[in-house]
Amino acid sequence: MWLFGVVGILIFLMAKFIYSVKPEHIIYIQYLWLLYTIMLVGLTTWWTRHIKNQIESLKTDKPIFDFPIGIREFKHVNNSLLYISRKLEAQEMGWWEQKARQADENLGLIKENSTDPLTGVANRRQLDKYLAQVLGKTMPLSLVMLDIDHFKRVNDTWGHQVGDEVLQHFARTMQKAVRPGDLVARYGGEEFTIICCATLDNAAIVAERVRQAVESTPANTSAGEVRITSSQGVAEYRAGDTAVKLKERADAALYEAKETGRNRVVVSKK
Ligand code: GH3
Ligand code: MG
Ligand code: MG
Repeated sequence: MWLFGVVGILIFLMAKFIYSVKPEHIIYIQYLWLLYTIMLVGLTTWWTRHIKNQIESLKTDKPIFDFPIGIREFKHVNNSLLYISRKLEAQEMGWWEQKARQADENLGLIKENSTDPLTGVANRRQLDKYLAQVLGKTMPLSLVMLDIDHFKRVNDTWGHQVGDEVLQHFARTMQKAVRPGDLVARYGGEEFTIICCATLDNAAIVAERVRQAVESTPANTSAGEVRITSSQGVAEYRAGDTAVKLKERADAALYEAKETGRNRVVVSKK
């Protein structure tokens, strides 16, 4: 095929030369192009038939007439192309695999940095980050502070391991009871937080649903069923509030819930 390329370039150069010397003779170049095309078609047809004959000869074990470009060269070129394409494919696959692994690792790292290893809910860092993002931008916004009642008794009666299982159960129960957009986070120890994009009244409904779910579903632990209750304080974001201020108001409501008998939701009106 390179022969046709060279001939094509020669004709083109010749046309350029004729045009620069005698522009009116450029018309003759079209005959050359015609000849070239006929040659191209003729040779391609001949070569295709030639290769076909060779394949037939191979099938019937006849001697192969291998001139000027025969099946051996054809096979050679074919094999080289196959080799190159496989190599490129492998390289490309390797690149994609590497990218996918990197993305997996990054996702894993992000997850590891933002979730609590025991309960699987968001950790304190993620909670603070989320609050910084939404405070003042998303309204309405409410914060629920939750604390398990008499949790020390669980640890003292059944041991720390069962206490951990109860914490996991508590987190699962909360996640089932909240709405899809709400963020459940472990604030520390047996204290949790729910951030709701809701008004005080609607957040109180969510909190009450969680309270009822916790009260009515016992934790299935390795030591058997353990029943717990929770106290909760709810506060709504007000323009100008900082995250600390909002948490303080929810905390004060939670304190009131504990003081007034536990297993209840108190809404901060102050
Ligand atoms: P209250 O109703 O007043 O909240 O009583 P409480 O017993 O829950 O009191 P407090 O909140 O002071 O006790 C929290 C206990 O939670 C103390 C601590 O040992 C236990 N705790 C904190 N983190 C973990 C944990 O990761 N696993 C377990 N098993 N226990 C924890
Ligand atoms: Mg407690
Ligand atoms: Mg506590």
